[in-house]
Amino acid sequence: MSLPRVHEIPIGGIITEPGSSRKNLTGGWRSLKPIIHDDRCIRCRICWTYCPEGTIKEIKGEFVVKGRKYQYKYEIDYNYCKGCGICAHECPTKAIEMVPEA
Ligand code: SF4
Ligand code: SF4
Repeated sequence: MSLPRVHEIPIGGIITEPGSSRKNLTGGWRSLKPIIHDDRCIRCRICWTYCPEGTIKEIKGEFVVKGRKYQYKYEIDYNYCKGCGICAHECPTKAIEMVPEA
């Protein structure tokens, strides 16, 4: 069997509209839901770094947790979180719990 030459290969998927992936609400794939327990979060940003969907948002503000002041906290955008659990696996303080999606 001979392989096709490069100019004979059909053109693959083309993204014609920039930002169109925002319309794909991947949260519908989820069977497990990550919950951030803010009192255990040390603001290390590891979950934010590892999330493959970029759904963990860094919220700026004044937050006091257990007497410590923080200038930001993390929240998950459930429209796009697909429940892969990577954030929970990587969190060094086990501040993220995966629970069954209701
Ligand atoms: S990985 Fe855990 S401790 Fe670090 S910012 Fe995320 S939730 Fe907080
Ligand atoms: S479960 Fe996966 S997609 Fe959802 S916030 Fe964690 S790393 Fe991101």
